[in-house]
Amino acid sequence: MSKFWTPVVKRTDPYVPGEQLNDPDVIKLNTNENPYKPSPRVIEAITKTATGDMQKYPSPTADELREAIAEVNGVKKENVFVGNGSDEVLAFAFYAFFEEGKTLKFPAISYSFYPVYSKLFNIPFEAIPLQDDFTLRAEHYFDAEAGVIFPNPNAPTSIYWPLEEVKRVLEANPDVVVIVDEAYIDFAVGGESAVSLIDQYPNLLVIQTTSKSRALAGLRVGLAIGQPELIEGLVRIKDSFNSYTVDQLALAGATEAFRDTDYFEEKRQAVIATRIETVAALEERGFDVLPSGANFVFAKKDGVDVERLYEQLKAKKVLVRHFKDPLIANYLRISIGTDEQMDEFLKRLDEALV
Ligand SMILES: *Cc1c(COP(=O)(O)O)cnc(C)c1O
Repeated sequence: MSKFWTPVVKRTDPYVPGEQLNDPDVIKLNTNENPYKPSPRVIEAITKTATGDMQKYPSPTADELREAIAEVNGVKKENVFVGNGSDEVLAFAFYAFFEEGKTLKFPAISYSFYPVYSKLFNIPFEAIPLQDDFTLRAEHYFDAEAGVIFPNPNAPTSIYWPLEEVKRVLEANPDVVVIVDEAYIDFAVGGESAVSLIDQYPNLLVIQTTSKSRALAGLRVGLAIGQPELIEGLVRIKDSFNSYTVDQLALAGATEAFRDTDYFEEKRQAVIATRIETVAALEERGFDVLPSGANFVFAKKDGVDVERLYEQLKAKKVLVRHFKDPLIANYLRISIGTDEQMDEFLKRLDEALV
């Protein structure tokens, strides 16, 4: 605490990201990064840009990148906003659409950045308990004062929520914004993105990221898709902070990541296939694994103290995520690595479990 801090700084309760160990021997399954490198075309585009005109400012409107994202999503450039990671896009969206002093609704078990932004922007919130099976119930999100936000698939539960239910939430909140945070949507087999609903619902904002399915967590590019008036609201906030939130290298790399659809598809399928095998392997070992639509699984095993298991795995140089929240303290969140990493994970898990 410092006397120089404003009340806003005093009331903040910053987000704590998962551990980033620099030990190359560690099998890192704790922050849902993609285990594969980004497309070689992305690296080539970044390298070419780095040796180009870095003395110049990047495009403040990011037209090429927005065009590439629009193309992949079957929307128009005017429907797309980009930012420095989806965390930044989320922060701008909170500021642009959720009114100070009115109550925001989100699931009690969801992305832990939501309460952080709520405190920062003075938005009271109702953290709504999940149902016993960890699913959401549409009725709980009806008639929200400030708006609604939830991840789909949810994190850290990994469960995908059908669009029919999302639609009911949109219809019951016509006068406020409903944000669907789709960080993991590309891994949801049979799950459709809410992007298909934007023409129908002016109150819908879909947020996605290149950090997970496009293997670019290090580049920091996130995006929002919605009707042009929502996009314009985000632009007004961005341009009141910083006109150049996405740098030249990030613009070049992310644009190529959206253009190289073959590479994206190949790696996405690889992660999904490894996930299916990992779920089977965990179930064989007596774990209960929630149905995953993400690049991670959420698992528990009756009679096993998973906090201790987390420590044992860490001692064996496997890093997974354990949350202290009593509602989920009996679960571990395990990101999906390569086949080789998951084999090694299972080997060390077996050693820890004996
Ligand atoms: C990873 C994640 C994000 C943030 O992604 P960045 O684009 O890397 O900032 C947002 N929402 C959820 C639910 C996530 O899991």
